[in-house]
Amino acid sequence: MKKVLVLGAGPSGLIAALKISTKNYEVTLIDSNSYVGKKILVTGNGRCNYWNEVINIDYYNTDNKELLSNILNYKDDAFNYLIKLGIYPKIKNGLYYPNCNQASSIKNILENAILNSNVNLIADFKVDKILYKDNKYKCFSNNDVVEGDILVIASGGCAYPKTGSDGSIINILKSFNIKVNDLNPGLTPIYLNESYLSKWDGVRCDAKIKLFIDNKFIKEEAGELQLTKKGISGICTFNLSSIASKYIKSNKVSLSIDFLPNIIDIKNWLYERNNLLENKNVYELFISVLNNKLIDIILEESNINKTSYLNNLTNQEINKLCNNIKDFNVIASGVGDFNISQVSTGGVSLYEVNNNLEVKKMPNMYLVGEALDVDGICGGYNLSFAFISGYVVGDKL
Ligand SMILES: Cc1cc2nc3c(=O)[nH]c(=O)nc-3n(C[C@H](O)[C@H](O)[C@H](O)COP(=O)(O)OP(=O)(O)OC[C@H]3O[C@@H](n4cnc5c(N)ncnc54)[C@H](O)[C@@H]3O)c2cc1C
Repeated sequence: MKKVLVLGAGPSGLIAALKISTKNYEVTLIDSNSYVGKKILVTGNGRCNYWNEVINIDYYNTDNKELLSNILNYKDDAFNYLIKLGIYPKIKNGLYYPNCNQASSIKNILENAILNSNVNLIADFKVDKILYKDNKYKCFSNNDVVEGDILVIASGGCAYPKTGSDGSIINILKSFNIKVNDLNPGLTPIYLNESYLSKWDGVRCDAKIKLFIDNKFIKEEAGELQLTKKGISGICTFNLSSIASKYIKSNKVSLSIDFLPNIIDIKNWLYERNNLLENKNVYELFISVLNNKLIDIILEESNINKTSYLNNLTNQEINKLCNNIKDFNVIASGVGDFNISQVSTGGVSLYEVNNNLEVKKMPNMYLVGEALDVDGICGGYNLSFAFISGYVVGDKL
């Protein structure tokens, strides 16, 4: 019977190992942690948003959309597999969580499935070297070695390295001449270098943000924006950060924030509000419309005294005020590092694998999950890709 080594007991490796173990293979699952699925526990703020109602290529960054589309075609099969394992979903605005709201329940279901299967689990085994010789893969940890005929790499990226995914295997893969696209933090805050940051710290508001690279529009996101003492955060920021981080060191990365996205003609709205509220100064016009800290900053940045009246402002001042509400410009100075990012962008190029996720250059080597150059936006897309890709390899082998 052929021996399969699955390197990494995260969601992708767990599903791959379980699926393969039902076939005519001897499966060994290896992880550096003392238990499986460690990262699952921290997902979705401890609730694990593991799936989404709508899964397609539009929600992912990758270097090979065609191949990713082919893989995503297995989403229904993978989802049914999760249901059969016992994961009972609760769906909120299209996002899937376990009904109990406990990420640990998903980790426990997968862990129990592994313990009840014939998968041989080797924990506390940090692979530091991989050799391929005489048609066998050898994974080393110091002087210990595990051997197999087939190797499934499920070692993740390098986000949240304290959960075990530290990018160490991706570095080893480079020595096999496998192309790895640069790894950068994704789904992480964006940092700014502005004097008003300490003043807006703690504000949350609904906004629309546009991302520009070298002044060229790239993407926009709408949703809750969190203003922090280092810059901006929250889901819409996270989604843009995965693109921003790739360019931050070499290009100008800037953002335009629309603080009142529901008001289309802001100038008209301002005059109407001024007519409605008699004898209110410009600051008072924005009370209950914008967070008071934000009113202060927008007026300051527009060089308008808060006690001024709209009727006394010049046209130029009103235009500047309107621009700072609908098109507040900031330049990104950095992004949150791997220690706080939810994913790493980049990874093994999808051009290195075929539709079965088998590495073209290396016989009997497969790749799944975040180790590949696939990263999704917030909403369950990263765990779902981990599950789907693990399922595909398990199905094809
Ligand atoms: C804080 C946080 C919140 C998140 N929330 C969500 C969410 O709600 N929804 C969502 O879809 N995604 C979320 N993600 C992303 C998601 O968790 C990952 O994309 C997913 O876990 C990737 O799965 P994987 O199997 O590819 O790799 P991982 O889960 O990273 O697992 C890889 C495994 O390989 C092991 N390993 C690595 N190197 C070695 C080595 N050298 N030797 C032995 N073992 C090794 C690691 O110990 C680890 O167990 C979140 C991530 C973080 C950090």
